[in-house]
Amino acid sequence: MLTELSAVELAAKLRSREVSATEVAQAQLNRIAELDANLGAFLHVSPENVLEEAANAQKLLDSGEGGALTGVPIALKDNMCTLGLPTTCASKILENYIPPYDATVVGRLREQGLVLLGKTNMDEFAMGGSTEKSAYRSCHNPWDLTCAPGGSSGGSAVAVAGSLAPLSLGSDTGGSIRQPASLCGIVGFKPTYGRVSRYGLVAFSSSLDQIGPFGRSVEDVAAISDVISGYDHHDSTSLPNAGMDNSGLKDGTLKGKRFALPKELFGSGIEPGVLSVIHETIDLLKKEGVEFTEVSVPSIAQAVTIYYIIAPAEASSNLARFDGVRYGPRIEGDGHIGSAAKTRGELFGHEVKARIMIGTYALSAGYFDAYYLRAQQVRAVMAQDFEKIFAEFDAVFSPTSPAVAFKLGALDSDPMALKMLDLCTIPANMGGFPAISLNAGLSGGLPVGLQLMGPVMGDENLLQLAYSVERAMPAATVRPRL
Ligand code: GLN
Repeated sequence: MLTELSAVELAAKLRSREVSATEVAQAQLNRIAELDANLGAFLHVSPENVLEEAANAQKLLDSGEGGALTGVPIALKDNMCTLGLPTTCASKILENYIPPYDATVVGRLREQGLVLLGKTNMDEFAMGGSTEKSAYRSCHNPWDLTCAPGGSSGGSAVAVAGSLAPLSLGSDTGGSIRQPASLCGIVGFKPTYGRVSRYGLVAFSSSLDQIGPFGRSVEDVAAISDVISGYDHHDSTSLPNAGMDNSGLKDGTLKGKRFALPKELFGSGIEPGVLSVIHETIDLLKKEGVEFTEVSVPSIAQAVTIYYIIAPAEASSNLARFDGVRYGPRIEGDGHIGSAAKTRGELFGHEVKARIMIGTYALSAGYFDAYYLRAQQVRAVMAQDFEKIFAEFDAVFSPTSPAVAFKLGALDSDPMALKMLDLCTIPANMGGFPAISLNAGLSGGLPVGLQLMGPVMGDENLLQLAYSVERAMPAATVRPRL
């Protein structure tokens, strides 16, 4: 079946004319029509648009001008601006909003002739870890439809895990690519901060946000990373040598590699079922020649606390622009302030409003030093702690999520429990370094992800290691039956 092929396999078949871009796009559209009513991965799909893009991609292929992934379909999280297509961030405050420009990543995909399949479901403004905070529809884990897929990029993870798309993009501020990848049993990669442009990504927490891919294999994730990375003068935090070259992906070895195990990520907060799969994987990798060493990073204990100060603080500032004047619908009230208050009060969801209030509080005079500044200091310490480890080790190894997928609604009454699920993923955002999640196996029939983290700008090495780890793990390629 076309929809089961990897992105790289599809690209090869497209280049050799074994299949056309239209056939591939149509196969994915059929699969979406068949399954998405139950999965809830997509917020917008326009079949006419998809087929038009596929026809354009075919022209590129016919002229021999295509790139490595020309004609391959890709789904996009609904917080990336797409010219002519809705971009709602799964919020009522951006209902029917159609951006007048493409995010830089979207422009790169279009230039390379990838086919945009549609916009995926997410937690409103990427705030959450379950995709249950979407203002539009619920999203279901393909391994068990009664479970959450994780989040906030849940729709993008479900699309790939359920073979509704071979590839997708998400955004990761505190784990929103890696955690849903882990809960859905696929590969999710957060590149080094600054390697993929944030221009046109609706900002949540600008110093932490990073766009990255989901795929069903490390090879696919590496291939799409080459397409989306690169310097962009529209993004002031874009790195000068941002472009990736993963042509050496398969040249690595695990023999003699040194992985650090931070004991703070193997403690009592991690589910026993997750720990046992991770320990089995460690044993497997030891046989491949990896040397594991336990280390301690005490600042990890503060990770969740500082994240839930810094991210809301930046969000409170970033979301000030949604006042009902420039974007989305407007609810009239008493004058400008009254209208803005009504629009924001009625159209932002509860979680978004809570974060705006926490962030405003943390930044207010008298509290700034005690909260925001202090959190930034701990962040700097955490980044240094990891830098020291990366000077000695090839990678840091841990679970991606402390728990497997949970039942939809199960954590509604316990918002702290949901936030604690970000424990293992937050450090990479704080330090800006790259991190990837791979499926390590199943616990109670649900996927368990392992995470590899590497030094800033070490993305290619990290992907090379991840590729070798994936080859050593039989569980990396198991798929849900749908
Ligand atoms: N779960 C985290 C939060 O709720 C991370 C979100 C993200 O990475 N976008 O903020």
